[in-house]
Amino acid sequence: MLFYDQVHMDVYRTHDQHIVETVVFAGTNYSKTLISVTNQIGCPVRCDFCYGHNFPYARNITADEFVQQVSGALEENPLVPWYDPERPVKVGFQRAGEALLNKHFYDGFEKIAETYRSSFQLTTVMPNSDVSVKTMEKMREYLSKYHDTFQINVSMHTTDELKRKEMMRGFNHLMDFKEIAEFGEQWVREIRKRRIDLSFVLMEDNEVDFGKIKEMFDSKYFSIRFAFYLPSSEETARLHVPSDHERMYQKSREARELGYHCVQSHAGPVEGKWDTRPFSALKFLRG
Ligand code: SF4
Repeated sequence: MLFYDQVHMDVYRTHDQHIVETVVFAGTNYSKTLISVTNQIGCPVRCDFCYGHNFPYARNITADEFVQQVSGALEENPLVPWYDPERPVKVGFQRAGEALLNKHFYDGFEKIAETYRSSFQLTTVMPNSDVSVKTMEKMREYLSKYHDTFQINVSMHTTDELKRKEMMRGFNHLMDFKEIAEFGEQWVREIRKRRIDLSFVLMEDNEVDFGKIKEMFDSKYFSIRFAFYLPSSEETARLHVPSDHERMYQKSREARELGYHCVQSHAGPVEGKWDTRPFSALKFLRG
């Protein structure tokens, strides 16, 4: 057997016996080879819709473990016949854990940038902690001179701030919307790479009010991204009902009418067949 064309999930065991998952998306349907890496063992944020709440936070991924996830995917994997070294590489800090709560994240990112010269994508809840503030300061300085893109997706999911905090129930120190708006403006002005995406996984019980968004977030600095919500377990399916296509189209229309660049994410050829969300390898291993 070979791995299914276009996706490969690596599962590593660390020296202290933790499991780390890394997913590679590649092939003709992808303009870049995307390597999606784990940020922490378990996740302290414990979003109520994520399978991760079954895996308590244990520790941070080290700088070397960040690099090994990329090198393992690109250099040491003879079972990935579809990997094309000519295709550009993008590294996504978007699997288990919150990268900006990891004090080793910056060092791992810098080593990957220096070694692979890739583009990057970070999915974050925008924590407001000493580690996240210091990390973003260093990132800002480094990225102002970096040649390629560093895309930030802010996990919003609703425009109801209180509800958002309740959903991210494991971690209390999130930036509020005003702070995210100020951060985004400064970041885009200084880094001059691309706008920040406000990302909504559409759940029927979650408000998405463009009146509030327009008041707060300038379309010069922020874009909107919608994705469908696929419950990760029976328990999360009971908590949140997925929205349908009609709501996504309606919300996308509203965003565009207000001048926002808006992307609708649909499940690609890989996501349509495989569960590739954070913690999915661990779910398979649990059986
Ligand atoms: S969605 Fe992301 S931030 Fe939330 S619990 Fe899962 S891994 Fe953590």
